[in-house]
Amino acid sequence: MKSTSMDEIVSLSKRRGFVFQSSEIYGGLAGFYDYGPLGVELINNLKNSWWRAMVKDHDNIFGIDGAIIQNPQLWEASGHLAGFTDPMVEDVLTHKRYRADHLAGVDTTDLKELKSLLKDKRSPDGNQLSEPRYFNMMMRTWVGPVEDDAAIAYLRPETAGAMFINYLNVKETMRAKLPFGIAQIGKAFRNEISPRDFIFRVRELEQMEMQYFIKPDSQEEAYESWRQFAWRFLTTELGIKESSLSWHEHDANEKAHYAKAAVDIYFKFPQGPKELWGTHNRTDYDLSSHMKSSGKDLSYLDETNGERFVPYVIESSVGVGRMLLAVLCDAYCEESVNQETRTVLKLKPVLAPYKLAVSPLLKNKPELVAFAKKLYAELKQEFGMVMWDDNGNIGKRYRRQDEIGTPFCVTIDFQSLTDQSVTLRDRDTTKQERIAAGQLISTIKEGLKR
Ligand code: ATP
Repeated sequence: MKSTSMDEIVSLSKRRGFVFQSSEIYGGLAGFYDYGPLGVELINNLKNSWWRAMVKDHDNIFGIDGAIIQNPQLWEASGHLAGFTDPMVEDVLTHKRYRADHLAGVDTTDLKELKSLLKDKRSPDGNQLSEPRYFNMMMRTWVGPVEDDAAIAYLRPETAGAMFINYLNVKETMRAKLPFGIAQIGKAFRNEISPRDFIFRVRELEQMEMQYFIKPDSQEEAYESWRQFAWRFLTTELGIKESSLSWHEHDANEKAHYAKAAVDIYFKFPQGPKELWGTHNRTDYDLSSHMKSSGKDLSYLDETNGERFVPYVIESSVGVGRMLLAVLCDAYCEESVNQETRTVLKLKPVLAPYKLAVSPLLKNKPELVAFAKKLYAELKQEFGMVMWDDNGNIGKRYRRQDEIGTPFCVTIDFQSLTDQSVTLRDRDTTKQERIAAGQLISTIKEGLKR
């Protein structure tokens, strides 16, 4: 089977309203994207699936929605102001900046090693490169009317911070005992040196993260269980093929400053296998740092044995946009049907932006249209995202729905007027089945479960 190219995904995304370049009419802005009518539905379906599996299915995981801008002391304590850096080099003529590790084709942040690897390398524009140095990726702003140093604040580079500083609030309000987790979905901002690969590496991103607070002696077990959760979610809930995924354990060079152990699930993106979802053992790094910096006691008293300690944290972290890109790439296929090529998104029905489309065979026959409109209203009431489509011939309509992953199409023809039956067409098999209109809802409901 031919592998999907990024150009095909970018083109489909634009053509069908999944993803648009942001501020396109002004020439765009690198690293920023807008989600269109279909993209936002797919994103909401992804977020709902994650929220259900993470928060609703666990009695001991609680959701929050923290502010994007917090007291800057948070980022000092977390180490982001000092350490949230990537190694970069600059083209000395164009001043374009590049990730040194990407240009060198290695996974390391070691400046000495990068310097030697890039010794004879030139920039993609063929110019000389500066020496590698670190570049802080925090985006800055000012809070209040005076733009001086005392008013500097940062857009959060990850959602995790708000979960650590609300640890006590959640523990107390929810009367939570270890182990328990705090989960959050929200935007984060990173001044990435080289945003690229469409929505894979952007400057405004959205993350779904969960911090699981545990007793130190259960770290291995919790780490193992949350990495398995990620794999299971991607394959079972989202229907991503196992063969598109792989494990990638971080070595000492790759691990973040806080992590004791870290493992990523890589997805085979068109540009190669890359990180999609990380599971990290952050030890007591975060709570200890915030305890020191804020002066608040964040330790935990184990009432069963009177022991007091600072909880460890296992983090589960995934980007929403990257997940959407992975889902699109995995579901995209081109198939030959009756000597014609069709593009089809084989999305799991729960993720599909539209669940079904309803069409009268001919749009200029009022009796067909009236029958179809009535059915459309009933189906919309039941399934929400139902599309009315009466444009072009029926074959074209099916192709259009295939391309956006709509699992079912319902067509009303002259026979429908006499025996109340309709044609139900299945996206994956392309099979058309004649069924009684009265059975549509239960048949589609069943079909959407697959
Ligand atoms: P990378 O190595 O790709 O820069 P990271 O290791 O810095 O990523 P984390 O800080 O662990 O990533 O972030 C958690 C998740 O957030 C990642 O697994 C990814 O899905 C997503 N993510 C991180 N940075 C970006 C970005 N610039 N654009 C889109 N998604 C991102």
